[in-house]
Amino acid sequence: MNSTHDPTLRSWVTSANASGADFPIQNLPFAVLRRVGTGERFRPGVAIGDRALDLRELHAAGIAPSRGLDACQEETLNSFMGQGSAVWSALRADLSALLAAGSEHEAAVRNCLIPLSEVEYQIPARIGDYTDFYTSIHHAANIGRLFRPNDPLLPNYRWVPIGYHGRSSSIAISGQSFPRPRGQLKPPGSERPEVAPCRRLDYELEIGIFVGRGNALGVPVDIDDAENHVFGLCLLNDWSARDIQAWEYQPLGPFLAKSFATTISPWIVTLEALAPFRRPWRRSAGEPRALPYLSSEENSAAGAIDMQLEVLLQSATMRENNIAPESLSSSNFSDAYWTVAQMVAHHTVNGCNLRPGDLFGSGTMSGDHEGSQGALIEITRGGAEPTRLRNGEERAFLEDGDTVILRAHCAREGAVRIGFGEAVGTVLPANSQ
Ligand code: CA
Repeated sequence: MNSTHDPTLRSWVTSANASGADFPIQNLPFAVLRRVGTGERFRPGVAIGDRALDLRELHAAGIAPSRGLDACQEETLNSFMGQGSAVWSALRADLSALLAAGSEHEAAVRNCLIPLSEVEYQIPARIGDYTDFYTSIHHAANIGRLFRPNDPLLPNYRWVPIGYHGRSSSIAISGQSFPRPRGQLKPPGSERPEVAPCRRLDYELEIGIFVGRGNALGVPVDIDDAENHVFGLCLLNDWSARDIQAWEYQPLGPFLAKSFATTISPWIVTLEALAPFRRPWRRSAGEPRALPYLSSEENSAAGAIDMQLEVLLQSATMRENNIAPESLSSSNFSDAYWTVAQMVAHHTVNGCNLRPGDLFGSGTMSGDHEGSQGALIEITRGGAEPTRLRNGEERAFLEDGDTVILRAHCAREGAVRIGFGEAVGTVLPANSQ
């Protein structure tokens, strides 16, 4: 921790000092944005209160020349992500000083601010590869019970940070709408499969993890160096077609059940901003010790991140009647069975090379109690027990017109709360065939 985490620090951007604000001066997350509807070039920006600091304008103003700011002049963050943690940290310190109350550069920096209400975003990096992990043992057990009642948790789960290689081309920024996917599915009792619109469409509440500095092909990343390769975290909704998934997933895992859409939130909260919210990574009694390449003192002492997650639903009917989104569940990233550092160490143990801007999904984050399940399939026991919304509607799975909203924040005594904004996506009717 350093002066950028000081809980007494305040910004001259007064909205950043409001209690409960997502983007206080202690946060400073990165996105790629432009003024909405202008057709301007997209460029990196940093959130402060209800404003975005335009890093291209700031560069042009010549107030804070730095290697980090030089690397933030492209239409994506890939170059900046590849610079490594010393450069990220130096830019964060510069931005913190410029935005702090009393800064001598207030007037010049004020000219580089855009109201967030006037901003549109794009995917913050060229995502070369996307890997989705499965790090919540509660989710794995809940899903396993539905797909394999007699054998819910496969024996490798407690040893391997399981993942599969996902599709990056269909990852989109918050605000995404997508048609209900069609695909091959085999309804229970049917002799033969059919091609039809998915009937069991679901969301998954996940954390997105952006890789920063890459590693050379053939050179694994040691667990103690792993977080130096991670730029930051966002929210990720891994939309899932459960009926397509159930029919296709064996033996090679998810394929078309997942590749039609993935929604991420626009702001990436850096690992450095998350420093006050680190927690020990613990295993319950009776769980095996992680293998040596997945173990370190630092990972045990502070590998977990105390990040409160929430998923909300707003149906088309609710929207028409001005009813606010309704919370479906909340969970915490610190309940994950594997840490971010373990994901990096495992992903590279075979020599696989990660590149700046690669994205990991954490896997659906579910807790061990009612109200903490991160997907409808868990909440409704595979659709058998539909959940009732306050306006009387019921949901076994998602209906056309449903909007799903993911939110997250970190808070603790003695630190300033920081938020992640939202990842919002809406289901449209299936395209006619
Ligand atoms: Ca997933």
